[in-house]
Amino acid sequence: MTTAEMTVTRDRAEPGAAVLEARHVTKEFVVRGNPFTRRGRRVVHAVDDVSLVLYAGRITALVGESGSGKSTFARLLAALHPLTGGEVVYRGEVVDAKGGKRFRDHVSRVQLILQDPFGSFNPVATIARTLLRAVRIHHKAASPAQRRSIIEDLLAQVSLRPAAQFTRKYPHELSGGQLQRISIARALAADPDVFLADEPVSSLDVSIRLGVLNLLRRLTEERRVALLYVTHDIASARYFAADTAVMYAGQLVEHGDSEQVTQNAAHPYTQLLIASAPDPSRAVENRVRDIGQPPSLIDPPSGCRFHPRCPFAMARCSEEAPPKFAVDDGQWARCWLYADDDEAAAGRAQNADLYGRGEIRRAGRPVPDGEL
Ligand code: SF4
Repeated sequence: MTTAEMTVTRDRAEPGAAVLEARHVTKEFVVRGNPFTRRGRRVVHAVDDVSLVLYAGRITALVGESGSGKSTFARLLAALHPLTGGEVVYRGEVVDAKGGKRFRDHVSRVQLILQDPFGSFNPVATIARTLLRAVRIHHKAASPAQRRSIIEDLLAQVSLRPAAQFTRKYPHELSGGQLQRISIARALAADPDVFLADEPVSSLDVSIRLGVLNLLRRLTEERRVALLYVTHDIASARYFAADTAVMYAGQLVEHGDSEQVTQNAAHPYTQLLIASAPDPSRAVENRVRDIGQPPSLIDPPSGCRFHPRCPFAMARCSEEAPPKFAVDDGQWARCWLYADDDEAAAGRAQNADLYGRGEIRRAGRPVPDGEL
């Protein structure tokens, strides 16, 4: 039996099968006002009508700026906040995890990995104690000797060997990369079906990020888990994820195969994200240095939420929210540029000119939710 097999106790979905699904998920937070009279009440529209499917053995990137709602969305999938609207579906069943056993079951299937590994450990507990706590919760019937063996296996799965070199240490005695590996080992103790990795390498040195991403990829493939990779770094999405969804001001604005989304972005916001990412190979004059500030989510812009920052905004953009347009094989964008009319065609020509693309994109086909 391999080390991975020792801690896999859950029936796995077939590779490529839908495991966790958000259907029209919406989250509003009330930020001020009298809770009884509702006077002065203001609402943050943090996540608005987001649908996304995570598949077994597959990595999906969720990309956006800080404050775009992507971390809130991950927490909604983990049932850490109640939904305002929509539903989360786990293997075909609507999740109802408000508390008690159903909540515990859900959080053991769907594990969050957070950005700051130091903040997620008890500073006065050894690594052995931290891992033992997780093993006790998820392997109740195991004997003390079996628990020790499971801890060694978990550390082996995240390539921390020999285990004794790590179990006696305290968090401050380990590097950020080692601690992030241990937080992944702790998540593995629950034998999850889904990892929600929220900026898992952002706080690590550049030199060790690749190792942690490769570890997550290996675990995703070996254990057939579905992985949501939440990041502000669209360049890493291309390398790491099969699919990429782009979030802006609480809404998904583009989705598709990662290679397609990062190499042939359709939505002006995705294009600006890519253009503003550091890339020494790109000509300085082609870089977009200032992409402005994200809007307030208390009073988001009307129509397309990106219109105050968009170089291609047309009159209709501030009046009517764009539908999804299928722009390429499996790729869609919520943008009026892909409407089939002369004004949109002129916008697409301007778009191709700004980004130095030889070819002008074609109009898209409006598609209902669920078709792509
Ligand atoms: Fe820009 Fe209009 Fe497309 Fe929004 S819908 S991204 S404002 S062109």
